[in-house]
Amino acid sequence: VLPTRLRCYACGATATFDERKRCTCGESLWFETSSSGFEWPDRRDPGMWRYADLLPVDPSSGVGAAAGGTPLVRTPRLDVGARLLVKDEGQNPTGSFKDRGSAVGVAYAARAGRDRIWTVSHGNMAISTAATAAGVGMECTVCVPVDVPEERLENVARYGPEIVRVEGDYGRLYHESLALEGIEFVNSDTPLRVAGQKTVALEICEAFSPELPDAIVLPVSSGGQLSAVRKALGELRAAGLIDQLPRLYAVQTAACDPIVRAFEVGEREVSAIDAEETIAYSIANADPPSGNRALAALRATGGAAVSVPDEETRAAQRRLAREGGFVVEASSAVAYAGLERLVERGALDAGERVVLIATGSGFKERTESPVESRTVALEELSSIE
Ligand SMILES: *Cc1c(COP(=O)(O)O)cnc(C)c1O
Ligand SMILES: [Zn+2]
Repeated sequence: VLPTRLRCYACGATATFDERKRCTCGESLWFETSSSGFEWPDRRDPGMWRYADLLPVDPSSGVGAAAGGTPLVRTPRLDVGARLLVKDEGQNPTGSFKDRGSAVGVAYAARAGRDRIWTVSHGNMAISTAATAAGVGMECTVCVPVDVPEERLENVARYGPEIVRVEGDYGRLYHESLALEGIEFVNSDTPLRVAGQKTVALEICEAFSPELPDAIVLPVSSGGQLSAVRKALGELRAAGLIDQLPRLYAVQTAACDPIVRAFEVGEREVSAIDAEETIAYSIANADPPSGNRALAALRATGGAAVSVPDEETRAAQRRLAREGGFVVEASSAVAYAGLERLVERGALDAGERVVLIATGSGFKERTESPVESRTVALEELSSIE
């Protein structure tokens, strides 16, 4: 039987998966996972599925079975005062960490006998959900805003999902989609997605075991991934595999930073803001559904939240490629720009070990800068300088 018990991190209430995805108190629910007795596994399942004992479902076939297991790369050339390791989530099957959540979402839906999975996204989550569904022959519907430009949908459409343009308030669609009965939506911070996405932190901690990184820095939008990282750390502590928690640092774009604003004024609740245009459009959620849970995670671990303007994001993106060999999307590069700010502020000490989650590959994006090159005649190659 599939696990169905969900719990609210905030008020402790429980519910079943079929009843609801959000608590009656308004917060997001996550799966209740018993990790006592969990040890670093011997199992050889590929990627994230080596942690199947902590997941609500066993792996199914297809690209979802290949999610996770991404490299953790020590990159001294990118050090900014702290010792940096890059967790290269761009190496997931569709180039972002979303594949971890999609893998669990699709596997669970398949086991529950569903033949279609739904999501509210026009970016990486849509790409990832559509690909993972395609891999097991499940139908997929992605709901996008009515005015999303055609070129933003090209990478989604490749996998052949049904694309539905929804008129009206896209922010409300998130909530209303979860209230629909008999339809499986796997959105940014829903229980199945959070369950899958926690595996990134399990991989990081296992790589450091028996030590721990001092901090983990990641870009944040809905707060789903940060919640997942927080949950994984809690499970590992309950299992006795770690005794402290690394500090978690959330980075947002200055064009859309509701979590940073709430953090800075000491609020426990995130308020919706009016977002501006940004190159980091994958992380521009102005009313993050797991914003409060993200804030709680930052405070519980002694971390913080910072935001960065697009110029710094561009510079970070360039440096990651030219000095690290990582092509990441702008929404990932914000984390590196944020890391530089955190070091300036003294939040991170020289010598501390910091993991930067490079959440998504940049190969899906056009570069803005013209390509510089020169031309030589074949005959002149021998005298080239
Ligand atoms: C979705 C996404 C994020 C933000 O994740 P949330 O769980 O919404 O906070 C960051 N980077 C990339 C590349 C993403 O696709
Ligand atoms: Zn609650």
